[in-house]
Amino acid sequence: EAKAGAGGGHRHFRPGMEARGVERSRLIDALAAGIEQDQLTVYYQPVVRLSDHRVTGVEALVRWRHPAQGLLGPQAFIEVAEESGLIVPLGRWVLRHAARQAAAWGPDAGTISVNVSGVQLRTAGFADEVAAVLRETGLPAQRLIVEITETVAVGGGPTAQNLTAIRDLGARLSLDDFGTGSSTLTTVARLTVDQIKLDRSFVDSPVIAGAVLHLARGIGADTVAEGVETLDQAARLRALGFERAQGYLFGRPGPAADLRFPGSTAERTRS
Ligand code: C2E
Ligand code: MG
Ligand code: MG
Ligand code: MG
Repeated sequence: EAKAGAGGGHRHFRPGMEARGVERSRLIDALAAGIEQDQLTVYYQPVVRLSDHRVTGVEALVRWRHPAQGLLGPQAFIEVAEESGLIVPLGRWVLRHAARQAAAWGPDAGTISVNVSGVQLRTAGFADEVAAVLRETGLPAQRLIVEITETVAVGGGPTAQNLTAIRDLGARLSLDDFGTGSSTLTTVARLTVDQIKLDRSFVDSPVIAGAVLHLARGIGADTVAEGVETLDQAARLRALGFERAQGYLFGRPGPAADLRFPGSTAERTRS
């Protein structure tokens, strides 16, 4: 994880590689500074119940207000953050901010889903950090959903301990982007997750969506379809049996101030 440096043992140089290495270490330095200087912000996207399209929670999605490049999405920096280890402070920041925001919104906001990287989960004591955040923010554990991916879920050792400890706190685990990883059905069946999110690439495939739904029911997990953009997709997924959905149809990710919940005060919480 710590092999952040540019020249870390490249054996097969191709033209341009050196330049990319320099660019990469610049990005790492800028991100490290950005985390310190509060350039990160959290966007929130609603998760709705398909039966009535009511919001049952939100997902926290990190953004970076880059001083020169403007607002950057995760695809511009998450991979580098994971490889450099910066995902640990970054993820800590996101978790704390999202929990604080959800606590400020109050119970009407429902659940708050936070994406957690495998690098964080492999860190011994990560679950203690989660417990501390819940304590400090006053967010009830039942409102927190920790999103992991299949590749993370198969990791052993500290990962398994952290996952168990997070559930013991009363928080839930969600298997994100389901269907895009490489885990076997055996692995998934052995996992204790509370929710499965169908990756948006399968939203128009009734065969795969149906199989995932069946699997989710088999392990007693709740289902969320990602990337729902049309009413037609929403109707078909509902007919298949999906309980929840998320997508541009219901709301794009946006700043906390864009979301209002009945019981929340109208104060604008800076994030
Ligand atoms: P994800 O967790 O699967 O989040 C859903 C992504 O799909 C978001 O992209 C969201 O903006 C996008 N999306 C939602 N609805 C629709 C739709 O209807 N159509 C389309 N085309 N896209 C939709 P975003 O915000 O760019 O995030 C990308 C990924 O970055 C996330 O995928 C997640 O894996 C990762 N990520 C985001 N925030 C964090 C974070 O705080 N920590 C970590 N470790 N990863 C994060
Ligand atoms: Mg997610
Ligand atoms: Mg996802
Ligand atoms: Mg996805």
